[in-house]
Amino acid sequence: MDKYIERVYNKVVEKDPDQKVFHQAALEVLESLEPAIKKYPIFEEFSILERITEPERLIQFRIPWKDKDGKIQVNRGFRVQFNSALGPYKGGLRLHPTVNQGVLKFLGFEQVFKNSLTTLPMGGGKGGSDFDPKGKTDAEVEAFCESLMFELYRHIGQFIDVPAGDIGVGGREIGYLYGAYRKITNIHGTGVLTGKGGGWGGSLIRPEATGYGCVYFTREMLKTKSEEFKGKTVVISGSGNVAQYATEKCIQLGAKVIALSDSTGWIHDSEGITQEKLEFIKDLKNVRRGRISEYADKYKVDYTKTVDGSPWSLKCDIALPSATQNEVDAKEAKMLVDNGVIAVGEGANMPTVPEGVEIFLENGILFGPGKAANAGGVSVSGLEMAQNSMRYFWTREEVDAKLLQIMQAIHENAYKTSDTFGVKGNYVIGANIAGFMKVANAMVQQGHRV
Ligand code: NDP
Repeated sequence: MDKYIERVYNKVVEKDPDQKVFHQAALEVLESLEPAIKKYPIFEEFSILERITEPERLIQFRIPWKDKDGKIQVNRGFRVQFNSALGPYKGGLRLHPTVNQGVLKFLGFEQVFKNSLTTLPMGGGKGGSDFDPKGKTDAEVEAFCESLMFELYRHIGQFIDVPAGDIGVGGREIGYLYGAYRKITNIHGTGVLTGKGGGWGGSLIRPEATGYGCVYFTREMLKTKSEEFKGKTVVISGSGNVAQYATEKCIQLGAKVIALSDSTGWIHDSEGITQEKLEFIKDLKNVRRGRISEYADKYKVDYTKTVDGSPWSLKCDIALPSATQNEVDAKEAKMLVDNGVIAVGEGANMPTVPEGVEIFLENGILFGPGKAANAGGVSVSGLEMAQNSMRYFWTREEVDAKLLQIMQAIHENAYKTSDTFGVKGNYVIGANIAGFMKVANAMVQQGHRV
């Protein structure tokens, strides 16, 4: 490893020894930047790596809220404002018991490079809480969101920081958060959050954007090998926002999606999930908030508990991991390769462990890393901000066309950059360097205090 990179990485670990998942994300990016760091000594001269691995600001706060029995519960809230060289901080809020500073630093760090790739003017941030929305009533979620906003409102704004959804935060939560923001500030500042509802500032296609975008990016990768989605068998993990709309786009393109999962298990529908079956899943997950096992009961297909294996054991042509970080380990990556997978597009953030990524790359699998493949969500969030500023709306077709254009541009940028640095088709290196260059140059140009 390059001496400068090694020094920076060691410092990252030394400063926060317990933040393992952040170390993992930092190492993955830093290692792949080596050719750019060697080519442009100015980045070392300006201490860009030391600065880019340190969040500009990290806010932690208390979120007290009353549960359905009138008892006061206390959760921890966070906002990591990682880098604003390119624009206001932008990134989702995650509600999950595993949320802590390390997880949000990993997500915020990834977001900096992802947002840079989108071609839109957005910095990177991430936030959330260790609150677990599972099993909570609507009223409890509302009370929690309101209390979260009591603190968060003072740190956000259309020119400062613009949060959106992530795991555990969908349309319902954004609605409660926006309502609380308006009540506290007396400002109808639609540009302060994205993922809003249609009719009060939300962009069409925002719910679909991450899943659709992931499929668009994967389709671009397939094209480089004269392949297409039509007739292919696809395995997708998760059954939330990203997984649902990745499934929908696969169906539209004539592929057969045979698996979806949640944290307790996964279903195998060898006949393929149809649009009608997908509507059942959307209702199950977004309205009734049930478990994916109910799909198996309804359609009489196989259901396997997570403890008994993973959907990556199924034979497929394309895999789209769309649940959470580190959900594809080395053994599972090997299984996918042995079973003939040709492309892997990461719908989730960092779902493949580093050894798994190595296995895909060594075997010539088309591998789209999350920061490129799942950038469609934040891209349409950027388009939502643009529409809010204009006080105007684009049609579904217009937003979808812009999303497609952005995903194609991200692909081309990552592909060309990989070629420039002598590793043609390595989208990990291509995306990391392409995302990094724009942020690093902006930081050099803006002086040493940013
Ligand atoms: P949702 O909350 O809508 O869905 C998450 C899905 O993943 C659920 O099926 C959930 O199952 C499953 N899951 C969550 N945690 C775990 C876990 N620890 N182990 C196994 N399964 C798990 O989230 P999204 O679909 O929005 O997000 C999925 C991924 O995509 C995340 O990595 C997120 O950061 C990333 N992403 C999301 C974007 C967006 O626009 N929403 C944008 C870019 C990236 P269960 O219900 O049982 O918890």
